Amino acid sequence: MPEPSNPSPPRRTRLAPSPTGDLHLGNARTFLFTWALARREGWSILLRHEDLDAARASAETCDAIESSLAWLGLDWDEGPIRQSDDRTPYLDAMRTLGEAGRLFRSELSRREIREAAGAPHAGGEVRFPPELRPSDPADWGFAGPDVGHRFAMERGREPVRDELHDDLDFDPSAEAGDLVVWTRHGTPGYQLAVVVDDLRQGITDVVRGDDLLPSAARQQRLARALGVATPPRWWHLPIVHDAAGRRLAKRDGDDGLLALREAGVSAERIVGLLLQLSGLVADRRPRPAAEAIGLLDRHALRTLVHRERDTPCRLAPEDLAWLRS
Ligand code: GLU
Repeated sequence: MPEPSNPSPPRRTRLAPSPTGDLHLGNARTFLFTWALARREGWSILLRHEDLDAARASAETCDAIESSLAWLGLDWDEGPIRQSDDRTPYLDAMRTLGEAGRLFRSELSRREIREAAGAPHAGGEVRFPPELRPSDPADWGFAGPDVGHRFAMERGREPVRDELHDDLDFDPSAEAGDLVVWTRHGTPGYQLAVVVDDLRQGITDVVRGDDLLPSAARQQRLARALGVATPPRWWHLPIVHDAAGRRLAKRDGDDGLLALREAGVSAERIVGLLLQLSGLVADRRPRPAAEAIGLLDRHALRTLVHRERDTPCRLAPEDLAWLRS
């Protein structure tokens, strides 16, 4: 894909929920901060539902997420777009990668990879090592959308410059190995879809949870293989934890935005709680989302990232009780 010819394209970010369940308070914080930063900086905002996982995503959940975001007080300038609406751009990217010799067919399951690769990999991630690449040249290239494919990851370190973190670098080949870019179920893989969309939608600034920091390095590699040298600006925000110190996840159903809304909790209470727990305001009271715009400059976000590196933001039962009080 060509580089944009304009040397300084208009700044644009995206809200990119995966519609596989209700938003939790951690998602709410990430989207609130993304929105507030964008509004503060004058970037435009695209809403993009990442709904390619047909087994888990649904149109109803897309609608519910939109309604929850609007209820929180957030808005967007473009979209909503659903990734499932048009697969052509992902297919085009697959052809490009295939022609560049970077794709091979592989439908091995995680268990099969684990068994074939021997020792389990640290961190729980299943790494696809280069030794499992097919030796038959007929298995290389793009064999069509009904077949699973992986992207052959180069070895070596990949630096990631993030606006909120000190310099970072990753080793995608050692951490993840060859990436699934087209699944066995005939859908584009997450990494491919994000890279293709961020490029074609002119996303200049990616703001998202820091669980995706290692993915930034992988996505830089994929983008480069698609002919784009300059990555977007990255802004990875810390993730909110529960009282037990685990990252909030979809399993925490009771604390989802829909459930809170149905229980009569106001959006202003949620915003007020998130701003106070994030150390951006001293006192805990209901606040409109627009108040976040004045609070979230880069300095405040960097301070938050540094503080939460040592002491993650935790939602305690009394915080949830305050919401419902
Ligand atoms: N859809 C992804 C998620 O909800 C975010 C992907 C991204 O921001 O790159 O975790």
